[in-house]
Amino acid sequence: MMRKVLKENGLSLQVTLTSEEKLESPGSYSRLIRSAVDEAIRLKASDIHFEPTNKGFKIRLRVCGTLQVYYSSEKNIDLKILPDVLRGAMFTTLKAISNIPLGKQSEAQDSRISFTKRGIDVRVNKIPTEFGEKIVYRLFNKNESKKLTDAGFPIETYNDVRSAIQKKSGLIIITGETGSGKTSTIYSLIEEMDRERLNISTLENPVERHVEGVTHTGVTQKLGFSDGLRALLRQDPDVILVGEIRDETTAKLAVRAASTGHLVISTMHTNTALNIPKVFEYYGADQMQLMESLVLGANQRLIRKICPECSTSSDKKGGNFKTVNKSGCSKCSNGFLNERVLLFEYFTRDEINEKGGILLKRSIKELVIELAKKGVIDENEVHRHTH
Ligand SMILES: [Zn+2]
Repeated sequence: MMRKVLKENGLSLQVTLTSEEKLESPGSYSRLIRSAVDEAIRLKASDIHFEPTNKGFKIRLRVCGTLQVYYSSEKNIDLKILPDVLRGAMFTTLKAISNIPLGKQSEAQDSRISFTKRGIDVRVNKIPTEFGEKIVYRLFNKNESKKLTDAGFPIETYNDVRSAIQKKSGLIIITGETGSGKTSTIYSLIEEMDRERLNISTLENPVERHVEGVTHTGVTQKLGFSDGLRALLRQDPDVILVGEIRDETTAKLAVRAASTGHLVISTMHTNTALNIPKVFEYYGADQMQLMESLVLGANQRLIRKICPECSTSSDKKGGNFKTVNKSGCSKCSNGFLNERVLLFEYFTRDEINEKGGILLKRSIKELVIELAKKGVIDENEVHRHTH
């Protein structure tokens, strides 16, 4: 057990070290984990993977949606140490830092820790694998701004989004794949609201970030999205944020709430904003109520910016198209910058006609072509995001 001794008024007291104190202890494995955490923060990585392998272990960081190897014991191995001894020592230290109890090696376990000085909250997840336990850190930067003005919207989009969140009631649905940043977007929407005068409540799985003036509730096995939403509706809400709509009851309740005087914000897993009514139809929600309450429907993607230093220009007419140079240069990693651009396809109330037909105000296709023409993204992204 890692403990420290506090001496006060002549008394000495043993206290368990915090995760950050354990991270900063002098051992060589703590040092390696610490350097991975600090590098992840520097690169704004979203996750750190600590993976056991047949020859020891490796550490990978997810930066801008792509995993990159940070450390591999195969390359740095001291041949006198056997892989399982190496792995054992590494994961014992990692589990101590991560507040994952030793033992229970065949079980999935999770925990939450904070590296307070670094301004980082970590959601830890452990799962048994063929070579031992794999641990993944999902990082949440507490100081990172989530303001709507920083979301990267063009001015017209920003104004449309703002007017949607100023409505007293209605439904705002942001769609996108995992890792498309839709959770960040819905957080930035509630950050923008008058949190003192409105009762804003959330239902999330899990609560990813605390927003001042907002009541957050995490769903559990005992309180799922639908029961939670039903209970929240009895708490006199103005705005309800539901992390994700993925079952019939939640879909129906969300539509009903939106058409009875509440502003409901949620996300869905589909690849175009035009599919939103179809998903609700699939869940059996009232289509008429839905079309009357939808105030904003969107689909978003995050695309890596291409490195302007080493990319090659193609001689296509009508724009400054560029192709990635996969070997990269000293200014980038494999031809890409550690930065992504947000593509936000959407429609508002005004784009829904009387028959329920929807015309997109901006489409992913239009946006991706525009960015490729400017040479901001790899021209191959056009094909990837329009088919
Ligand atoms: Zn480059």
